[in-house]
Amino acid sequence: MIDFVFTNMILDRAHHLRTDQAWIAEQIAAGQARTVTVWRDKVLIRNAGSGEALIVEGASTLHDEASELVFLGMDGDTAYFAADISHLEEPFSAAIPGDGDFEDLRALAPSLEHGIASMLAHARALGYWHRTHQFCGVCGSPTESRKAGHERKCTNETCGKTHFPRTDPAVIMLVTHDDGSGPRALLAQNKRFPSGIRFSTVAGFVEPGETLEQAVAREVKEETGVDVTDVVYQASQPWPFPASIMLGFRARALTTEITIQDDELTDARWFTRDEVAELAARDGVLPPSKFSISRWLIDTWLDETAA
Ligand SMILES: [Zn+2]
Repeated sequence: MIDFVFTNMILDRAHHLRTDQAWIAEQIAAGQARTVTVWRDKVLIRNAGSGEALIVEGASTLHDEASELVFLGMDGDTAYFAADISHLEEPFSAAIPGDGDFEDLRALAPSLEHGIASMLAHARALGYWHRTHQFCGVCGSPTESRKAGHERKCTNETCGKTHFPRTDPAVIMLVTHDDGSGPRALLAQNKRFPSGIRFSTVAGFVEPGETLEQAVAREVKEETGVDVTDVVYQASQPWPFPASIMLGFRARALTTEITIQDDELTDARWFTRDEVAELAARDGVLPPSKFSISRWLIDTWLDETAA
């Protein structure tokens, strides 16, 4: 079962309502809309350390203050918006409730209820996209938000290019091998891992002009020197840090000799099932449980090989 953070969106994105400006204005004016708030890389929570998102009801002051207001979707009859206030020097203003605080979504994610986490991921990704697409990539003129925050359009009439939110595909893969002496998994240590995490699966960005399967094989080879085959898709995870989707795969190793060929990795090793189970039992050695697709790929393999 797919059960990790950012994969359980509770909102109906209600695509057809994005162009209905009168309806959007009515939702905001009626004071019943609910709003999540983004300030740069952080999201609004209730009290520091609570792990609970603060969703503001009504929020007309917040809507007025936002540099971007995005319609996220519907939960039943309730409209949800994302307000980006990143243009403020400090995240706090009269529009933020007194018990509000801001925290990094990535750090916060393991403690969030999964449906709320998905909403915040959507909000953070769109906030980042708006902030970094203020100018047209074709002609350099300013762009304007359209479709309730789901497009930007170049204001230069002779250009008029429409820009859409970006999602950059990245592949993440559990490479396995079994020479008859028992299954082994390839785990690596990356320089950029958050503090504590020592081993995880190999990952990398998809390049233009390659298939996902080719990206998996290329990344594993580049980073560890291992050749793989039988690349099979498993699951995906939105990863708004800042704008990716992680596409999870399993792959079977054709060779086992590890040569770290990439300056991103500091270590890579083959682990037996028992060794991986031991890493999983220790705090902070693998990515947190139910947090990343990396851990899900590892846990799924552990469950399969447990019999
Ligand atoms: Zn333009």
